[in-house]
Amino acid sequence: LASRTFRPEPSYFDIGGIKIGKDHFLVIAGPCAVESREQVFQTAKSLKQEGIHFLRGGAYKPRTSPYSFQGLKEDGLKILKEVGEELDLKIVTEVMDTKEVELVAKYADVLQIGARNMQNFSLLKEVGRTNKPVLLKRGLSATYKEFLMAAEYIMSEGNYQVILCERGIRTFTDETRNTLDISAIPVIKRYSHLPIIVDPSHACGNWRYIIPLSKAAIAAGADGLIVEVHPNPQNALSDGEQSLNLQHFSDLMKQIRALAEVE
Ligand code: PEP
Ligand code: MN
Repeated sequence: LASRTFRPEPSYFDIGGIKIGKDHFLVIAGPCAVESREQVFQTAKSLKQEGIHFLRGGAYKPRTSPYSFQGLKEDGLKILKEVGEELDLKIVTEVMDTKEVELVAKYADVLQIGARNMQNFSLLKEVGRTNKPVLLKRGLSATYKEFLMAAEYIMSEGNYQVILCERGIRTFTDETRNTLDISAIPVIKRYSHLPIIVDPSHACGNWRYIIPLSKAAIAAGADGLIVEVHPNPQNALSDGEQSLNLQHFSDLMKQIRALAEVE
């Protein structure tokens, strides 16, 4: 179902009047984690000023350490929904557990499957039974075939609205958190009709490299970006080092608008 042999033309779908995967370049931005209403609102206001329609923010966080901030859970979802409604932004948020799919789907416009859950097959099937678009992130060491087969799990349950996301893979380098696999874009586009976006934030782990990697993603033919933005990255409860502050986000938007028609 995810393959070009099934559907030769690129697929696109509508999320609240915005066409994903066609003509326009999708930008999803926001904090790694929902920390407070003020933090989300302040970020969202800036996104709005930049003409962005999609707000990201994690309420359930897949942290490496069980002692790190795990997210505000349903309270975080409520904050996202409230701010989204107030500012007319679509909400993209991660769901980590089959038990929470129904709850998260009540609040979210797009369900995010994190890299660590790319092969959580029961979770993939569960989101495949919803009618919400799914943002599927590539696993840390997943091959292209495994990545596309994960999309297949979602689609095989009837949900064809899958957006793939290249978010960096594990390599031997240590200066960046992961290595952005820019090849994923043309390769996936060759084999699949699904839209693919890039997450430069998790790929490199350092806000200084977000602009060049975003430009590379556009040049390679990506359908969009998902970027971490925080009003005060030094005090972020997660991923501060890779989060753009509001000024840097505005700089990013200026630069990518010169290269792509942003939605
Ligand atoms: C995230 O988007 O905040 C996240 C945890 O991403 P990934 O699953 O790609 O690590
Ligand atoms: Mn993050």
